[in-house]
Amino acid sequence: MSQYWTDIVHQLNPYVPGEQPQDMQYIKLNTNENPYPPSPSILKVVESFPIDTLRRYPDPESTDLANSLASYHGLKTNQVFIGNGSDEVLAHSFQAFFKQSKPLLFPDISYSFYPVYCGLYQIDYKTIPLDDDFCVTLEQYAQPNGGVIIPNPNAPTGIALGLDAIETILKNTNSVVIIDEAYVDYDAESAIRLINQYPNLLVIQTFSKSRSLAGLRLGYALGNADLIEGLNRVKNSFNSYPIDSIASAVAIASIEDEAYFQQCREQVIASRDWLNQALVELAFKVLPSSSNFLLAEHQSALAQTLYTELRKLGILVRHFKTKRIDNYLRISIGTDKECRALITALKSIL
Ligand code: PMP
Repeated sequence: MSQYWTDIVHQLNPYVPGEQPQDMQYIKLNTNENPYPPSPSILKVVESFPIDTLRRYPDPESTDLANSLASYHGLKTNQVFIGNGSDEVLAHSFQAFFKQSKPLLFPDISYSFYPVYCGLYQIDYKTIPLDDDFCVTLEQYAQPNGGVIIPNPNAPTGIALGLDAIETILKNTNSVVIIDEAYVDYDAESAIRLINQYPNLLVIQTFSKSRSLAGLRLGYALGNADLIEGLNRVKNSFNSYPIDSIASAVAIASIEDEAYFQQCREQVIASRDWLNQALVELAFKVLPSSSNFLLAEHQSALAQTLYTELRKLGILVRHFKTKRIDNYLRISIGTDKECRALITALKSIL
């Protein structure tokens, strides 16, 4: 608390990211990072990057990367907005679209940054409960609203919605609907193909998970050109150059290496299915995941105890103290070796 802070800053309840400990080598299964390195082709790009160009500001529009993303996703360049991580894209979107006279709607269990942005931008919101199986229910999204945001697959449940469900939500509102697809590449269906049909749909994706580039900080939104222009107005009133020129070149190289992307994606999915089964055999209830993490509750052991004991053994997982999931652990999918180490550690604890 400080006498110098504004009222809004006093009231902020900032997001708490998963631990990034610097003290020892943990098996890190707590922040949904990719266990595999980014595409090897990136190394060449970095090594041959013309250092002298760093004297200059980068292209404020990140045109080359926007062109590359547009052609990858079958859209026009004016349907792409790029930001410094999808968190920044989300923040700009909240400011651009969601401060309305009616409340923003999102699931009661979802990405915990959403209420934080509402606090920052003074946006009224209402949460819609997931059902008993932790699935998104559709009916309540039809009520009058100032916007809708849903992660698909949802986080931290990992459960995906089908496109028919997303279309139902879109048909029932004229407000902006954001589908946060941070984890879509792990088996869910992207809503990108609905973009040209629904001018109020914005799809947000990231390079942090399936492209192994969380440290690069790159995310993007895809949608109708009007929505993208709204985002550009916010961005250009905040920071004209959020994407540095090296990040842009690296991201393009990642998009161009489709074979490597598919290979890592499939490997994570295979490891997820193995880990899911191994956890079930240890008496965990595991939610059906279409993402690169599992949300699991043990039949008898407490999540807090398991979290603490795993940490002592050098394995980090995430434990949210949120209502309804406070006895669950969210476990990011590691390499097969890391998944096996987790199971060995759990066996010794249990
Ligand atoms: N959306 C969801 C649902 C997430 O879990 C995350 C990662 N914490 C993000 C967005 C943000 O990812 P990034 O800023 O790294 O793109």
